[in-house]
Amino acid sequence: MVTLNPGQNAGPNTWLKAFPHAAGKMQSPVDIKTSLVVQDPQLLQRSLSWTYVPKNCKSLLNTGEGWKVIVEGQDSCLTGGPLEHSYQLVQFHCHWGKCCNSGSEHTVDGKGYAGELHLVHWNVDLYNSVEEALASPKGVAVIGIFFQVGKHNEELMKITDVLHDIANKGNECTLPRVVDPAAFIPEVHDYWTYEGSLTTPPCHESVTWVIFKKPIEVSEEQLEKCRSLFSSTIKAIVNGEPVPGKVTQNVRPTQPLNDRTIREAPY
Ligand SMILES: [Zn+2]
Repeated sequence: MVTLNPGQNAGPNTWLKAFPHAAGKMQSPVDIKTSLVVQDPQLLQRSLSWTYVPKNCKSLLNTGEGWKVIVEGQDSCLTGGPLEHSYQLVQFHCHWGKCCNSGSEHTVDGKGYAGELHLVHWNVDLYNSVEEALASPKGVAVIGIFFQVGKHNEELMKITDVLHDIANKGNECTLPRVVDPAAFIPEVHDYWTYEGSLTTPPCHESVTWVIFKKPIEVSEEQLEKCRSLFSSTIKAIVNGEPVPGKVTQNVRPTQPLNDRTIREAPY
């Protein structure tokens, strides 16, 4: 049996064979066609709310597909809006591309952004472990936040300034400065929501997505630091030594919406 690298290095087109969920009808990301978004008053019954404990954002890891902040502890929680349960933050990571309109996984009316941050939470009411939740209905809630190129993002700088310490796949370091996930949330809290999947293998259809409409600013220099991380892919042999490639992009293409609806709260 051929074992694929369960990451983006193997390329999204190769995922279907090894990860059959990737061929499902509720995959992510999707293009958000704003004219087709449905206004749903139910979303106003309980406002979306989050409580994050910055000191629980412990360490920063190079996964080979990008960076990931590992969150410990039980007190970082997301509830309300489209969610009927409590979801606990377990990690956050980022997607980016080679240029300023190809780095987001979700797109809006066909337009991509420079990047997209994903805050990943699991359903602690229904499940006993992250692993169980990732593969189960209503198991996961992911907040997506778009990046547009502009000024330095102070909070993201606490991560991008230390990416050189995790240059290679598998490298991990303690975050030297406390990072507050709430600081990434845009000032305007309008969002779209829909039911979808993990955007990386095994692409389980377990995710309630909450995508904030308003992007936050990050600098081109910060994106360039992300693109400088090394993946596990061996791209070249230099002086007889294999040289790993860089993670210049880590975005899954948009998937068909099929018969799903994307919802927003009425204005
Ligand atoms: Zn992601």
